[in-house]
Amino acid sequence: MNTEPISPESGSKKFLEKLKTMEVDVHSCYQCGRCSAGCPVSEFFDLNVMEVVRLAAYGAEERLLTSKTIWLCAACETCASRCPNDIEIAGLMDVLRELALRKGIRPAEERIAIFHDCFLGSIKHWGRAYEVGMIGAYKLRSRDFMGDMKLGLDMFKKGKLSLKPHSIQGKSEIRQIFSGKGKEYER
Ligand code: SF4
Ligand code: SF4
Repeated sequence: MNTEPISPESGSKKFLEKLKTMEVDVHSCYQCGRCSAGCPVSEFFDLNVMEVVRLAAYGAEERLLTSKTIWLCAACETCASRCPNDIEIAGLMDVLRELALRKGIRPAEERIAIFHDCFLGSIKHWGRAYEVGMIGAYKLRSRDFMGDMKLGLDMFKKGKLSLKPHSIQGKSEIRQIFSGKGKEYER
């Protein structure tokens, strides 16, 4: 990861514009640290939650998009619910993951990025997660053929994994969501 010193002046204006359109108000952060203190997985992060928000306010795009944190965030929303300024931090993490993928940045946590892509692919195609198809795609792409095999078999025996996909109504609306917002922000 690039560890060059950063300042508000050195940040990417385009990146800050993007955050603005996504209505993530990182500038209202006053660094109280409540988000970092409540995050259940922060011990695995290379940037803590509060640092992510501050770096975003500086427009430090490269530092953020190459970090492990954006992939390790479990999207549990604890940070956002603890933030006194209602900053949508889990949403910010989501935006950062998507930007990293669109810009073709090699993810710091490659298998998580593959899972993320397979999950979204399943939603885009079926309108909801089709677990068996998603797991198959993940296994093929990650080459992790044996990982979590026992867990998968246990879930299958308990009827938690269906071999057939379940489609939903309104799939075209879901596809519209995928094709719309944010497309203009590409390198
Ligand atoms: S809880 Fe909110 S205001 Fe406090 S440091 Fe985190 S983002 Fe900033
Ligand atoms: S949403 Fe992500 S960053 Fe926020 S508390 Fe949960 S795991 Fe931590």
